[in-house]
Amino acid sequence: MSFLEYAPAPESKAVLNLKDSYGLFIDGEFVDGSGASFTTISPADESRIAEIATANDADIDRAVAAARRAYDKTWSKMSGRDRGKYLFRIARLVQERARELAVAESLDNGKPIKESRDVDVPLVASWFFYYAGWADKLDHAGLGANPRALGVAGQIIPWNFPLLMLAWKLAPALAAGNTIVLKPAETTPLTALIFAEILQQADLPAGVVNIVTGAGATGATLVRHPDVDKVAFTGSTGVGRDIARAVAGTDKRVTLELGGKAANIVFDDAPIDQAIEGIVNGIFFNQGHVCCAGSRLLVQESIHDEVIDRLKNRLSTLRLGDPLDKNTDIGAINSAAQLARIRELSDIGEAEGAERWTADCAIPDKGFWFAPTIFTGVEASHRIARDEVFGPVLSVLTFRTPAEAIAKANNTPYGLSAGIWSDKGSRILAVADRLRAGVIWANTFNRFDPSSPFGGYKESGYGREGGRQGLTAYLKGASA
Ligand code: NAD
Repeated sequence: MSFLEYAPAPESKAVLNLKDSYGLFIDGEFVDGSGASFTTISPADESRIAEIATANDADIDRAVAAARRAYDKTWSKMSGRDRGKYLFRIARLVQERARELAVAESLDNGKPIKESRDVDVPLVASWFFYYAGWADKLDHAGLGANPRALGVAGQIIPWNFPLLMLAWKLAPALAAGNTIVLKPAETTPLTALIFAEILQQADLPAGVVNIVTGAGATGATLVRHPDVDKVAFTGSTGVGRDIARAVAGTDKRVTLELGGKAANIVFDDAPIDQAIEGIVNGIFFNQGHVCCAGSRLLVQESIHDEVIDRLKNRLSTLRLGDPLDKNTDIGAINSAAQLARIRELSDIGEAEGAERWTADCAIPDKGFWFAPTIFTGVEASHRIARDEVFGPVLSVLTFRTPAEAIAKANNTPYGLSAGIWSDKGSRILAVADRLRAGVIWANTFNRFDPSSPFGGYKESGYGREGGRQGLTAYLKGASA
């Protein structure tokens, strides 16, 4: 069985072996935090999952010192081949504990179990496998004459793909020989802490990876710490700006993976059945909590009505509900704050004159939920065409010519991703060439692979994760 083929089975919390409270993972051990703790809850029913420590300044000091010691004493002295062995071991342990990780992820984040089980967790394993293969080849891959690790990396990740974002951050940094202090998002700390247990099982030397939990203030302390050589951040454009300001004038290296407002462009010669599935996957996968979500549908005017009718029919078949039910297509919104933001932007969309349609789903009594929503008649100036909603809300605009499609697609401060649907390869290539987006999908959407670089233009950030480019972000003297 390959790592992409874990057997589907009904999932239940019984596979979990959760603790009532979690400390910080520093120097290979779970230790108490010095700050107040916070509770992580299930967004599907607001039930308590566990108590989580908050790392304050003293804890961040401890974690960075542990990472520095591990860098000086073990990790920087180890051969690439030996580092690779740890990464392979971690990948195998992720596979062994895949069911448990998937259930924990769906519980803490709210995403459907079929997504965490079939997409997130297999991709986590594939990221460690992929970068394990790089660890012993750094000197021979044309990365530069003598690529060397940067030292201690401070990594901050968001809540939408908690474990996958952790893998995107840890795997290349470790392969390149760095040690790490990582901070997960405050609404989804659970799987990072279970992952710390996996690091213990893998016998990773103490201090090579440290995991500190807490909110934005904990992240800000980590960013400013003088002994952190590299800051890697995935999250909102606003916080990305704060981080860029905080490191300006220091010699810290920084990569930022920020927001998006992707155009999914459907031409009238597109394979329409495939395109409908691609539009649905593009914006409703993971409740639209996806930085590269196809949140702006640009559809050629001549097929607008047909596409919208078909989309509404398709959305009427989606099931919203319990994230742990394997038949669920649409899970919970991750937090009350995110739900409030989605509601606010949707209300603004209506007030600005767009037409709102909502799929007819029964909404559970407890928890945070938002039914799939389509806005038609959206103008480029509307907030729902410009702001990242980060929820299951599709804004539909139309175009007549390829030139108009390109102009509308590029009319955004973001530039992370885009999709093009057409039967003509020549048209896809010509349009792709003129889109200002880091990732462009042709007749598909939301596909990820560890060998492909991922990252944005403009306010979507800078730097690339994935592939060979993802390694250079963690090496001195390396050329992309
Ligand atoms: P966020 O920026 O609020 O938080 C992200 C992380 O940063 C969290 O761990 C948070 O605690 C921490 N943080 C908050 N304030 C901080 C500060 N001042 N200094 C340091 N750290 C701080 O974003 P979010 O709401 O968790 O995530 C959603 C955003 O992430 C969306 O905009 C989405 O597009 C973006 N995102 C981008 C990518 C990508 O690869 N480009 C991937 C996933 C999500």
